[in-house]
Parts: sequence; structure tokens; C-alpha cells
Amino acid sequence: MSSRRGTPTGSICSNSAVTGEIRLQGIPAAPGVVVGRIRILCKARMSEAVQPRRPAYGNLPRVNDNREAHGTGEGVNSALATLSDAVEATRTDIKQTMERLAQRTTTGEEAEILATHLLVLDDPEFIGHIKHEIRDNKRDPHEAVVIAAEAIARELEALEDEYLKARAQDIRDVAERVLSHLDIGPGAPCQDAATCLDFGPGTVVVAEDLGPYDIMRFPPENVIGFVTEKGSATSHSAILARGLGFPSVVGAVGITAVATGLEGKSILLDGDTGVVLLNPSPVSLESYGPRIEESAKRRSQGSLHLQSRERRVVTADGVTIEIAANVGSMQDAKLAAQVGANGIGLLRTELLFVGRDSEPTEDEQYEALANIVSIMPERRTVIRTLDAGGDKKIPYIDLSPEGNPFLGTRGIRLTLAHPAIFKRQLRAILRAACHGRVAVMFPMVATVEEVRQAKSLVREAREELRRAGFKVPDIEVGIMIEVPCAALIADILAREVDFFSIGTNDLVQYVLAVDRLNPRVSPMYQPLHPALVRLIQRTVEAAHEAGIWVGMCGEMAGDISATELLVGLGLDELSVAVSSIENIREVISKISSGSARELARRCLQCSSETEVRALLSRGGPCSSFP
Ligand code: PEP
Ligand code: MG
Repeated sequence: MSSRRGTPTGSICSNSAVTGEIRLQGIPAAPGVVVGRIRILCKARMSEAVQPRRPAYGNLPRVNDNREAHGTGEGVNSALATLSDAVEATRTDIKQTMERLAQRTTTGEEAEILATHLLVLDDPEFIGHIKHEIRDNKRDPHEAVVIAAEAIARELEALEDEYLKARAQDIRDVAERVLSHLDIGPGAPCQDAATCLDFGPGTVVVAEDLGPYDIMRFPPENVIGFVTEKGSATSHSAILARGLGFPSVVGAVGITAVATGLEGKSILLDGDTGVVLLNPSPVSLESYGPRIEESAKRRSQGSLHLQSRERRVVTADGVTIEIAANVGSMQDAKLAAQVGANGIGLLRTELLFVGRDSEPTEDEQYEALANIVSIMPERRTVIRTLDAGGDKKIPYIDLSPEGNPFLGTRGIRLTLAHPAIFKRQLRAILRAACHGRVAVMFPMVATVEEVRQAKSLVREAREELRRAGFKVPDIEVGIMIEVPCAALIADILAREVDFFSIGTNDLVQYVLAVDRLNPRVSPMYQPLHPALVRLIQRTVEAAHEAGIWVGMCGEMAGDISATELLVGLGLDELSVAVSSIENIREVISKISSGSARELARRCLQCSSETEVRALLSRGGPCSSFP
């Protein structure tokens, strides 16, 4: 049987008289196969439960429509008071959910999401924007929340920074939570559909979409999985499902329409492949039997950690290349573990510092880093020290405006200029090293003195910790090669450190004098320019001559059209976005290191990017990939 994604197949005359199996293809979100009874959780059902007075969150009123402004001064005050009650109720609600979660076996990530939600509730921009809508645009509280949240979420989505982009979902989740408290008012019997509806044993929830709160409130003894129309494998819902161990499928387009009328009927969902079978046939049930049993066993053992074993990546002729992940959060790190990455090749620590009013304490940093390191303790986690400056501003670190910030106080220059901040981070990193295999890496290095100063601060931090009674393991110390002069003196720098990681995102912009953020010059941003190929080769050679390893963590490492060249140039590790890991592995498995070296040799003789590209697109193993 075959079906395209979202296209149901099977014999449906009317849903209430279904005789055959209906198959839908969605996106696998959390592994495991379950068979249960359909329970539809749709907007109508939610509204029955919570009786909202306003349209659903998604139905956004337009800011400049010509609605009559409502609200006198008194009305405004009462609306502000209503808002304040709902915000406080939301805060209590989130804290209670955190307490309940603490009693369940989870990965800890759920609590992290909720902690972020508490920060959103305290965010003066978020609350200020809602109040502005009430006060100045005479919106009622419900509309004000929707308008403010949507405006901020869209602004975040427009940003380059992936982490900040993903914060849009937090804003929307919190807004939904506040709305639910506005809608039901104090003293209402229940707070959301998931707690109001009773779920019988063996329930598979079918919904258009589910927020984190819905999922966290599913009674684990009765709800065994869920399927949604919307969502992606990296949405909060999917992350939570993996953490809480609910096999689930998201993005199953058409599921709610198809399931309507089938409430209580049988449904099979395969969270490994994304297949959903409504009214599964005896043949399907039989063929899925062993996997259903296996999932049930895993659930009963409470084995919610879905970390897969590290996967070795070798070329067709047996040369091992490490494929590590670039991560910025606990979520990313868990996904990396789940795809069997050979470690974390770049942990960007800026994310611990942005979006707050003051520097995280050493303990806060230690906890966050230790949590990430503990995910794959036996595989290496390369923690990059704070790479602020340039386009990454941190309001509480004194940075007077610079005419050309990308050429200003960035990366290691900034941390060396603020040794107290740097030391606190280094101490946190050294302490986190007790939880796994850690390496520290300095960004934007241009001179040997910078490396020596940074290393001496590492030594000081280590001594301080030892004196304070901490056990501090030895860790590898490395640098990013992302400034042209560093590549040119790679042989000198190689004597000072344990490894290099080539940051092509910056190296390209500095070598070619092309701002990486300026769309007007983006055609000139050419990672395959012969100058880059030569600098990479020079860096790799210098590293190997000094007996240290060399990786690449810029975006070029994840570009499959460049993989054969990079293998041929001799890189030991490619650190890429989690979503690219599988593709890169597949490409590498078809490469022969001998022909890759030959390809690299020829690329080094090219006189232009066009020539390099032409060579790369000529036949090699990469040509069979999109
Ligand atoms: C790079 O410059 O290639 C890199 C990985 O660092 P970032 O993108 O964080 O500047
Ligand atoms: Mg960089």
C-alpha cells in the first residue's frame, strides 16, 4: 500500500461507516508503535471545555482595522486588572506544571521549556506591548494578548539567529496560556481541554495541533500517543513527546477530518516512520505486532531516553570521519544524541547570555553546560567561549558602539577585555568537564598572544577551582580558525593548542571582504573560492604536521556539494546542524578517500570559484544527492 504524505488511502464512503483501513503519512516525531482508541481533541472540543469568549488564538484581529474602539478610562483599568490576574494565574499554573513534571521521569528539557515561559511572562516588552494595546488602542485583553504576541513572534521569526527565531513559539505558547486564563476567569472548574476531557486507557489523541501544556497534562497512564495535523519534528510538541515517551506523529495533514466520526475506533501510529493507520486491518496489526510489543515493553520499563548509539562514519575505503553536531541548546544536543552524532563539535554559549538583563552566574552556566555535556558524556563536547560582539550584542556587557563591529571587539577580544566575565565562564566550563568529555574553544583568534592569554586564564580558573576543593579534569584547548591571519599562521598557532576548528562563516567573509549578513553582496560570498580552498588546506596541513586534529564547524561543513573536497583536504571532523548529519553520513559512505584527495589536488589548482564548482559537480558521489 502506498500513499503520499497527507493523502489518505483506503475505502472511505463516510467516516461513520468505515469498513477499510485508512492510511496517512505524517512526520515521525517520537519513536514507538502503539495501537489505541481515537480521541479527537479539536478546537470545538476545547471550546466546549473552556468556553472561550473570543475567537481562537490563530484568528488574529488586524491592528489597523476599523473596529470601534471600546473602553473608557474605567474600562481600561478593569481590562488591565483582568490581564494582571490572568498573568498571575498563568504564572501559578506554569509553576504547578513544573512541580508535577518533577515527579515524572523526564529528560529535564520540559522543565527548561517551562522556565523559558516564566521568563516570557516577566518580559517587559511582552507585557508592555499587551498593556499598550489595551491602554492606547483600546483593545480588550484577549485581543491585546493576541496582537502583542503575534507582533513579537513575527519579529523574532524574521531574525537570522536560529535560537531567537525559535523563541517565537515560546511567545505563542505563553500567549495561549494567558488566553486560557482570560477565557475561563477565576474559579472555573478546569483550566484546559487536556485536563477537562477524560482520557480512557489506551487513548491516542488526534488533534489539529497541540501545545506543550496539552501534552504535559496528558495522563501518562491513559494517553499512549498522539497525532497532529500541524507541527514539525523540531517543534516543542515533538521535543516533549520524545522526552515524555509518547510515540507520536505530527504533520499528518487531513487527520482530523478523516478521524471525525471515528471516535473510539482503533488507530495505529508508527512514530518511527510517520505512518498512521485508522481502523488498521488484521494483516497490518499482525505485521506491526512485534514492534507494538517492543514499544509497550519500553514504555513499561520507563526507558524514555531515546539516545541512539554513536554511529561510526567511514568512507567507502574505510577512512573514519567524525560527524559532530553544532548545537545551541539542550534540545539540539538531545537531537544530536538521538541521531548518533560523534559528539558536539560546536556548542555556542552565547545563548546562555542573550535575552537577559544580567550575566548568568557561574553556577547557572555550570548547570546549563553540565546538562548538555551529560547527554553524551563519552563523546566530546566542544564548548566555545562567549562569541559576543559583531552582530551579537549583549546589553549588560559594556560595549560602546563601534563603527564596524565585525572588525571590532568580537569573540576572544571581548572576553579578554572582560577577564572577570571570561573567568566565570571558564570556571563553569571546567566544572562541567566533570560530567563528560569536554574541550574548550576560543573564537576569533588572530594572534598567538591571544591564545596564550586565554590559556593562562584557563590555568588561573583551574587553580582557583582546585583551591576551592573542586576536582578539575584536564581538557583539550582549541581555537577557531576564522580570521585569515590565523589560517596564515596556523603552523605557529598549532604549537599552542590541541585542535583547530575552521569557522567558514566568518573566514569567508573576512577573506573575501563580503559581509555575511548583507544580501546585496551575497553572490560574492563564495566558500568555494580558491582562496578559501587554499586556506583550508594550509590549516589542515599545519594541524597535522603539529599532530593535532582539525575540524570544520562553519556552514560549509554541512554542504554536501563540498563534502568530497573537505574529505580530500584531510579534515578529521565535520560539525554540522543536526538535520544535516544523516545526509553527510550518506555522502561520506560513498566517497573514496583516494579520489577525494585527487579532487582536492585539482581544486587547489583552480583559478575561480566557478572552476571549483564545475569540478565538484562532475560526477562524484555527491551528484546523486539533491
Ligand atoms: C563560523 O564563523 O563559521 C562559526 C561557526 O561561528 P559563528 O557562525 O557562530 O560566527
Ligand atoms: Mg564565527
